[in-house]
Amino acid sequence: MKSFKRAGAKPEPKGDPIPLLDADGNPVTELKRDKKGRLVLDKEGMPIKVPAVKRDFYGNPLYENVPYTDPEEARKTALRSGDFAEFDDETEAAYEQVLRERAAEEDSSLAPDPDALLEVRHLKMYFPLKKTISGKVTLWLRAVDDVSFKLHAGETLGIVGESGCGKTTMGRSILKLYQPTGGQIFFDQTDIAGYNSKQMRPLRTKMQIIFQDPYSSLPPRSTVGGILSEPVLVHKIASKQDVRSYVLKIMEQCGLRDYYYERYPHEFSGGQRQRICIARALSVNPKLVICDEPVSALDVSIQAQIINLLKHLQEQLGLTYVFISHDLSVVKHISDKIGVMYLGSMVEFGSKKDIFSHPMHPYTQALFSAVPNPNPDVKMERIVLSGDIPSPANPPKGCKFHTRCPKCMEVCKHIAPQYREYEKGHFVACHCYPQED
Ligand code: SF4
Repeated sequence: MKSFKRAGAKPEPKGDPIPLLDADGNPVTELKRDKKGRLVLDKEGMPIKVPAVKRDFYGNPLYENVPYTDPEEARKTALRSGDFAEFDDETEAAYEQVLRERAAEEDSSLAPDPDALLEVRHLKMYFPLKKTISGKVTLWLRAVDDVSFKLHAGETLGIVGESGCGKTTMGRSILKLYQPTGGQIFFDQTDIAGYNSKQMRPLRTKMQIIFQDPYSSLPPRSTVGGILSEPVLVHKIASKQDVRSYVLKIMEQCGLRDYYYERYPHEFSGGQRQRICIARALSVNPKLVICDEPVSALDVSIQAQIINLLKHLQEQLGLTYVFISHDLSVVKHISDKIGVMYLGSMVEFGSKKDIFSHPMHPYTQALFSAVPNPNPDVKMERIVLSGDIPSPANPPKGCKFHTRCPKCMEVCKHIAPQYREYEKGHFVACHCYPQED
């Protein structure tokens, strides 16, 4: 009997779609697509490049068999030959992501360093920029991307970098003012990265922050005594009877006179306000203080007073500081260790002596070349970086600094350099130095 097709009915598919096979000829069954549907990861987590989906006459997907290319092998071949013409940057970017996630997973099982007060491993803080109507995030701003370091009790870590490089976000993520997207934060050998606000509450006395702007960080309707007493009472550091004498002692330590107790913040200058902020941070006996550009809003003469006060308090109370600043002279004066950040990543980390005596990363070299030298006999060679800092929402492929680097090579445009330890405690991420063992 003759059959008739109903108008508009979907035609029956003819033949099976050709399966996607891996290098060994086995069908690839578990795939993850990227946002554009071009890159997929197989079940091993390795990226595979798939050509645009072709469809047969009936609209059925028709994949072509694509040979599985080992991204590690492709990278080695390109590095050996120096020819990146056929090199696939997107596959490489996906592969680097896989490697980073693997490293974070491997490191997550390691015990924290017993000597470190603060140990940060593979810290990530991403903010969603674009979402689909169903709420799926399609674009992230990677403010902090895979940052790791250790800090011992009583030390000061200076964090430097241009505005927008993620210094402040990193400091706030350590304090859990933001919930980190990934990574571990060991404070006193306890991983607090996954803690909620209730779990963080007892730790708030141990970790404090001094904000950049002393004008907006003090409540205008409270007296100095009220501002400093509140955290002491909330965290039960002193009883109601003793709180006044306790606060007066802290004020004296911070160079504030006792009759300031009844005064309001608007009656003080910027330097005195910052002393009140420091006293507020110290009133709960913290171990770690994040100083977020604490002197950048002050005059140079006042800056020196505040820096000296912070140093004096550190010696007296054994405090540990993370000192965020874009002023290299200030960082040099106060720090024991220095971390240099660029576009959300740590590009160089080491002791103050190592970083200042021989900076290895071209970005650090450029930053330090801008520090004025008071000795007229020393010839300054200024390295001027051209161009603006790229957007962390769309960072350049390969080395994030390659668009501005005066030493940029072809490899830098395609492959991100490894963050490696070249001298004891001196870490750098740059292709100018050996990448393989
Ligand atoms: S990896 Fe290349 S582009 Fe990046 S800092 Fe080093 S030399 Fe410059």
